[in-house]
Amino acid sequence: MSEKQHDLVVIGAGPGGYVAAIRAAQLGLDTACIDKEPRLGGTCLRVGCIPSKALLQSSEKYHEVHGGLDAHGIKTGEVGLDLEAMLARKTKIVHDLTDGIAGLFKKNKVTRYEGSARITGPGTVVVEGADNVTIKAKHIIVATGSVPASLPGVEMDDDVIGDSTTALSYPTVPEHLVVIGAGYIGLELGSVWRRLGAQVTVVEYLDRILPGTDAEIAREAQKLFKRQGIKFVLKARVTAARRDGDGAVVEIEGKDPLKADRVLMAVGRKPFTDGLGLDTVGVAADERGRIPVNDHFMTSAEGIYAIGDVIAGPMLAHKAEEEGVACVEHIATGWGHVDHATIPGVCYTDPEIATVGLTEEQLKEAGTPYRKGVFFFRANSRARAMDKIDGRVKILAHEETDRVLGVHMIGADSGHLIGEAVAAMAFGASSEDIARVCHAHPTLSEAVKEAALAVDGRAIHA
Ligand SMILES: Cc1cc2nc3c(=O)[nH]c(=O)nc-3n(C[C@H](O)[C@H](O)[C@H](O)COP(=O)(O)OP(=O)(O)OC[C@H]3O[C@@H](n4cnc5c(N)ncnc54)[C@H](O)[C@@H]3O)c2cc1C
Repeated sequence: MSEKQHDLVVIGAGPGGYVAAIRAAQLGLDTACIDKEPRLGGTCLRVGCIPSKALLQSSEKYHEVHGGLDAHGIKTGEVGLDLEAMLARKTKIVHDLTDGIAGLFKKNKVTRYEGSARITGPGTVVVEGADNVTIKAKHIIVATGSVPASLPGVEMDDDVIGDSTTALSYPTVPEHLVVIGAGYIGLELGSVWRRLGAQVTVVEYLDRILPGTDAEIAREAQKLFKRQGIKFVLKARVTAARRDGDGAVVEIEGKDPLKADRVLMAVGRKPFTDGLGLDTVGVAADERGRIPVNDHFMTSAEGIYAIGDVIAGPMLAHKAEEEGVACVEHIATGWGHVDHATIPGVCYTDPEIATVGLTEEQLKEAGTPYRKGVFFFRANSRARAMDKIDGRVKILAHEETDRVLGVHMIGADSGHLIGEAVAAMAFGASSEDIARVCHAHPTLSEAVKEAALAVDGRAIHA
C-alpha cells in the first residue's frame, strides 16, 4: 500500500466534504478528498436533493398538463407518461452534476481517492477500494454524512419496502404507496408518485405533519396536500411492515393494517460513522450517533474535525456546505463561522414550504414577546396571474426591538423567496427594514414585504 502526504484530507465527498475540499484548496492547502462511491456529490447529488428535485419538476409538469392548464385556456390532448424517460432525465442530471464536481476537483487541484476510509490513528487515514493508500495529513475532516433510519419491525428489502433511494427509481407507478413518516423527504417523494397517479397514504407517529416546522404553516400544508388527494393517518405508530404477496402490509398499533404495493420508509436519517475508526483517536459519538464538535468543528481529538449530517443540526446540504467552508477557513486563517440561527429549510412540494429562524411555538415556549405579520398569497397580484394563490407568508418579530426572529411561508416559489428573509435575518434586520425595502411589482416577493408591514398592522393589500 502506497503512502501519500497532504495538508488536509476530507472523508466524504457530499456537499459538506467536496465544498470543504475545494475551499481548502483555494486557500492553498494541499487537499485530498476520499469517497467510497465512484460518483462525487454524496447523498445530495446521487440520491437526495438533486434526483428528488428532478422528479418533482417532471411530475409537476405531468400533473399540470393533466387539467392544470385549463384555467389558462390551454387545452391539451391525450397525455402519456414515459416513466423510463423521466427517470433517465433524472439520472442524466445527476451524472452531469457529479461529473461537474470531478471537474471542479481537477480545476482546484484537489486529489481524489476512491475507497472506504478508516482513521487508524492521529493524522493517518487508510483508504481501501479502487484506491489503496495510506494518507498522512495534519488535518482530517470527517464528512461521512448520514443514511436512512429505520423502525423495528419494518422488513426493508430495498424493493417493495424501501427507503428514499428506492423511491427515486420505482420502475412503474405504484397503485398504492404507503409513506411512513411525514417529514419533507416523505412528502416530496409522496408528492412525486401522487402526481404520477399513485394513491398515497402518509402514516405519521405524531398528530401533525412536518415535525419542527411552524405549526400554522404545517396545518395549511396538510390541508393543501389533502386536496391533492394525499391521505394522512396521524397519531399512528407503525409496528411492522412486511412483504405480502407482490405487495406489502403495514401494521399500525390500534388501527387496521394498510395494504400497499410499495412502502417508503421516510422516518429520518441517522449519522453514518460505521468502520470509520473514530475509536482509534478517542472520539465517541453521542447517543444519537452524532460526532460532538465545538464552534470550529473540532472534535475532542486534535486535528480531527467533523461537519454536515454527521454532526448535530438540521440534515441539509447547504448547512453541510457552510460548515465545510467555515471549518477549513478556520484551519487556514484562524477565522470561520456559521450562523446556525439562519439556516433555511425548504420542502419542495407544491406549494413549497420554506422557513428560517424560530417558530411561533418556540417563541411561546421561550416566553419571548413577539409580534406576528401574516400575508396571504391570494392577495398578491403575481400569485393571481400565476394561478398559484395558495399559502401565506408569516413574519415573527421581537415585540420590543422588532428584530425578525422567524419567517415561515408556504406558497409558490417559497424556496426562492426565503432567501430574502435569510439575508435580512443574517444582517439582524427588523420587520420595518424589510417593509421599507422596495420590492418589484408584480412579484411574489411583495408578499414578504406585506407580511413585514402586517407585523405593524399596516399591510396595504390585506
Ligand atoms: C431524498 C432526499 C432528498 C433531500 N433533499 C434535500 C434538499 O432538497 N435540500 C437539502 O438541503 N438537503 C436535502 N437532503 C439532505 C442532504 O442530502 C444531506 O443533508 C447532505 O447530503 C449532507 O451532506 P454531507 O456532506 O454531510 O453528507 P453526504 O451527502 O451524506 O455525503 C457523505 C459521503 O461520505 C461518503 N462516506 C461515508 N463514509 C465513508 C468512508 N468511511 N469512506 C469514504 N467515504 C465515506 C459517502 O459515500 C457519501 O458520499 C435530501 C436527502 C434525501 C435522502
